Amino acid sequence: MTTSSLLPSFSLAGKCALVTGGSRGIGQALATGLAQAGASVVICGRELSTLEAVANTIIAQGGECRPMLLDMTRPDSFSAAFEAINLDVDILINNAGTEQLCPSFDVDEALWDRIMDTNLKGAFFCAQTAAKRMAARGGGSILNLCSLTSEVGVPGAAAYGASKSAMVGLTHTLATEWASQGIRVNGMGPGYFQTELTAEFYHDAQWCASMRAKIPLGRFGRLEDLVGAAVFLSSPAAAYITGQVLYIDGGFLASI
Ligand code: NDP
Repeated sequence: MTTSSLLPSFSLAGKCALVTGGSRGIGQALATGLAQAGASVVICGRELSTLEAVANTIIAQGGECRPMLLDMTRPDSFSAAFEAINLDVDILINNAGTEQLCPSFDVDEALWDRIMDTNLKGAFFCAQTAAKRMAARGGGSILNLCSLTSEVGVPGAAAYGASKSAMVGLTHTLATEWASQGIRVNGMGPGYFQTELTAEFYHDAQWCASMRAKIPLGRFGRLEDLVGAAVFLSSPAAAYITGQVLYIDGGFLASI
């Protein structure tokens, strides 16, 4: 090996990346970052006009992006959706997710199912659909969005926390099972990021002050804080990394 070959490639040029929940928030940021790293990106969600607006922004910045309608609660539709645009996917960012805080005494089956179906069942079947195509192409990379609730309890987040803890287990299982197909499976756990999902918390100045005080780096996350890790874990530079979950939380988990 020559010295010049020691720096691995972080480029995603020539790769096709599917980002679920790419219509806003973290998914939009990751899709934009992956496109800037050279990937041809497909973003999915439930509303075409929103997806088209995001895709147009990425294209205006010189990236490649296409929208794809996909409801994570309808795994029976995944194969046909992939087939319809002949999606040869190399990278899957399993990002779509939902949350609704509710005291555990009051959680009903509909709420439980909506959160688990979106965050966990949909993520698994999307990974399965993508992995079959990756396996046929010699490999790929899957990144599952986890959460601080994968590791710590948050009152009122029973279904969400269960879904996100399960995403860690799913990451471990799929990483070991699909390694032989050349598919790496990792997780990424954002700390506190203000998006539509979490907006209500950030209206409460007292909550903001007390949470900020618990974050060693002293601030909430910015969406761009997540992009480097997602690009890295999806790139050839991470060729020997699988089954890992990287928390991007300003040091929060390390401090509790
Ligand atoms: P947002 O609410 O901003 O975005 C959620 C995305 O998921 C949207 O693009 C939405 O698309 C999509 N989505 C939701 N339900 C469905 C569905 N049934 N089918 C298809 N797409 C769906 O959330 P964030 O960006 O904050 O969250 C993204 C991921 O990051 C989630 O998995 C979340 O759990 C995780 N996360 C977020 C944290 C944070 O602090 N924000 C912290 C830790 C983890 P549309 O509605 O257009 O269909």
